[in-house]
Amino acid sequence: MQSVQERAYAKINIGLDVLRRRPDGYHEVKMIMQTVDIYDDLLLEKTSAPGIYLQTDNEELPTGQDNLICRAAALLMKEKGISEGVKITLTKRIPIAAGMAGGSSDAAAAMRGLNALFDMGCPVEELQRLGVKLGADIPYCIVGGTMLSEGIGEMLTPLPAPPDAHLVAAKPDINVSTAFVYGNLHVERLKDHPDIDGMVQALSAGSLSGICDRLGNVLETVTAAEYPVIEEIKDVMRSQGAQNALMSGSGPTVFGIFTDRKQAEAAAEAIEKHKLAGQIFVTKWV
Ligand code: ATP
Repeated sequence: MQSVQERAYAKINIGLDVLRRRPDGYHEVKMIMQTVDIYDDLLLEKTSAPGIYLQTDNEELPTGQDNLICRAAALLMKEKGISEGVKITLTKRIPIAAGMAGGSSDAAAAMRGLNALFDMGCPVEELQRLGVKLGADIPYCIVGGTMLSEGIGEMLTPLPAPPDAHLVAAKPDINVSTAFVYGNLHVERLKDHPDIDGMVQALSAGSLSGICDRLGNVLETVTAAEYPVIEEIKDVMRSQGAQNALMSGSGPTVFGIFTDRKQAEAAAEAIEKHKLAGQIFVTKWV
């Protein structure tokens, strides 16, 4: 095999709770991850010269060792003793620094692609064990779907997919650093925690209204307090018929859940008209 194509899907969190800050600085989370139909494309090709070469259509992204794709590729190839070369071409669509795990998903897709390209025969668990060294969301991104994620993100339990719905994902033009958000989260002061167990039950029951009633993300206490645009987008989504709306991950992307495609499209238009977000998608979960 000379080349492999992989899709790297974005995720949203329909529930995100932080239980405590561990002495080592990591946060223990309890969250529900959901793949959405927004994806980057990766093309992996063998090269005659050794090394890892990355090119991308996105000018904002580093293409050297700072890119998570290169770090993941280097880690896996070293672990497996692969000394051949690979060129990776990334077509970027997932908004960057958005709370949609774009970098983690690219890294996961690179690991899956290299596993196939060099016939490594690595089981999924091995890719996940390596991936978590680079990012807590990478083990999830290797498999995707609907998952309960616990620990620092490495304990994964598959859940039933939510019932069909239309989604609007809107990323305002602000830069939110994940480190800033977690750094300013005071877990011991949180008064409300999302009902993640209830969300698991709603998924098992296939109840879209049960899911929408339980949307919750403790990181909103930091990001939405700092950036009012988050609540403004949620308000527009709800006034356009969203069953509910929530910020994903550490933000700033906000998503709304709609039963009606036309309402979802109208919400996207209203967000654009009011210039609340520069990147807006009408999408679905996958
Ligand atoms: P998360 O939801 O896991 O917090 P995110 O969506 O907030 O992720 P990313 O898009 O993964 O954030 O990017 C965060 C930072 O990582 C960016 O500043 C970017 O420069 C860097 N980065 C490195 N490699 C990549 C990549 N392949 N795609 C996107 N960002 C990358």
